[in-house]
Amino acid sequence: MVAKAVEALERVLKAHGPGVLQSLAFDHYDKETRKEVRKGRLQKAGRGAADDAHNTGRALDIIIYAWEPPNFEKWSSEREIGYRLVDAFLRCQKDMAWNLMVYDQGEWDAEGIYKTRFAKPTAKPMDRIAFEHLTHIHIQWPAKGEAKNNTDWEAILIAELHNI
Ligand SMILES: [Zn+2]
Repeated sequence: MVAKAVEALERVLKAHGPGVLQSLAFDHYDKETRKEVRKGRLQKAGRGAADDAHNTGRALDIIIYAWEPPNFEKWSSEREIGYRLVDAFLRCQKDMAWNLMVYDQGEWDAEGIYKTRFAKPTAKPMDRIAFEHLTHIHIQWPAKGEAKNNTDWEAILIAELHNI
């Protein structure tokens, strides 16, 4: 079951988020046709373990490239708007009560404290891109407590989004 906070964040971003979120994002090149396969910018489902934050309905991924696909060798033109979203979520953290945000080789904890996040040098390229979150902002709520089902912050976040 998807937590109410995740549903609220998706709804608010669809209605009030930056315009880039209305477009589809590059996902991968189809092996046979070599055509680009694209996907929506807001993703709730995860591919990880059954108990991870996505598969338990406590996380949202916001596809907004910090680095340019498909090679991820230079910064994306979307990067600036990605950081504006990160800053908006940080300003709303006390109200939203998310406990982890990850983007662009860094993460912020439940207190908003930042630390870098780099894959091991031996990691495969796709694993590095995923671990370091070069393609999306991951935001999640704690498994315990009621924060994941509280949505009283919607108006506060909307006001922040209108400023970015
Ligand atoms: Zn995620």
